[in-house]
Amino acid sequence: MEIKIDSKGYYGEFGGTYVPEILLSNVENLKKAYYEAIDDDDFKKEFETLLRDYVGRPSPLYYANRLSQKYGAKIYLKREDLNHTGAHKINNTIGQILLAKRMGKTRIIAETGAGQHGVATATVCALMDMPCVVYMGALDVARQRPNVEKMKMLGATVVPVQSGNKTLKDATNEAIRDWCCNPRDTYYIIGSTMGPHPYPEMVAKFQSVISQEIKKQLKEKEGRDYPDTLIACVGGGSNAAGTFLNYLNEKRTKLVAVEAGGLGIDSGETAATMHCGTTGIIHGAKTLLMQDNDGQIIEPYSISAGLDYPGVGPLHSHLFKTGRMKVYAVTDDEALKAALDLTRLEGIIPALESAHALAALEKMKFEKDEVVVLTVSGRGDKDMDTYLNHFSK
Ligand SMILES: *Cc1c(COP(=O)(O)O)cnc(C)c1O
Repeated sequence: MEIKIDSKGYYGEFGGTYVPEILLSNVENLKKAYYEAIDDDDFKKEFETLLRDYVGRPSPLYYANRLSQKYGAKIYLKREDLNHTGAHKINNTIGQILLAKRMGKTRIIAETGAGQHGVATATVCALMDMPCVVYMGALDVARQRPNVEKMKMLGATVVPVQSGNKTLKDATNEAIRDWCCNPRDTYYIIGSTMGPHPYPEMVAKFQSVISQEIKKQLKEKEGRDYPDTLIACVGGGSNAAGTFLNYLNEKRTKLVAVEAGGLGIDSGETAATMHCGTTGIIHGAKTLLMQDNDGQIIEPYSISAGLDYPGVGPLHSHLFKTGRMKVYAVTDDEALKAALDLTRLEGIIPALESAHALAALEKMKFEKDEVVVLTVSGRGDKDMDTYLNHFSK
């Protein structure tokens, strides 16, 4: 069956628009503006020009020789860590700030976990001269200090959120609250493939430049434009969606997603939403989420702030439930080990989130000469405190 979104914003049973009444017309206007924009040549040209000259795209597809030897497959790394601001998040914020401008919005808000989306949003707000407020869980403010300082230097206001377990979910709640209070002038730049329709579709679209480039680059390097296996980590799902989007209906390509197991999927301290979740509604969409029998959200846990979220985007819930995508859960310790491995084998210090994707290589079996593309979603600079703490023990 072909995988695509329907006119109401559902992938199979997941997605939709579950927002307070006051935001309905906002979401409707956004949908209209988005569909117009992506059909407009001027919009496309401005987006592509900024991706090239400002973000530094295309990002390299790097053949990782020593990593390949270790696992007995041909492993290519899609280097989103080399983008301006250090992760894939900037692809999406460029698209959405252009849309916000087009819609005549004058104020930008965002949520952030690891701070990468906050930095990417503060960056495009500086670029476009727009005021910017970033909501961030207080725990994340503490564990991602370099990114908090960058946001402030870029001119953004960072609001630490004290509710819940003080991470991404709580920051998202607060951003939605702000949007409800300021529906007219404010544009909410969501950082992942979550939220009400059209956000999941829109974020996937802006990130799909990743798989467009993989197609071209693989054709040059391997003589065919599809890999046998694609691997990406999943928090809300945007780097994975970008990596997979142009291959969703390519039967020859296996899709592998890696979520954060935390201390283990049975430990109660986990963010493995697809392993542990059931269908419910979170932040505007029907999707898989971790909840108790009363529908109360179970607080997630991961060492990686960017994966520490109790839900996952509706596209991923659908890919998982239909069996199109295989999902692994990787623990904190496995991710830390994989981060050190990549650093010593290839001289690349990955983000902790990306290290989860790398750790899945240990759990997989490959055919000889199997072509694998793994997206390195970001660089490890923001995680140096965590790495140093752990590796000096
Ligand atoms: C935010 C982030 C993630 C997780 O978000 P997705 O939307 O699932 O991609 C992964 N890696 C890095 C480096 C991030 O900053």
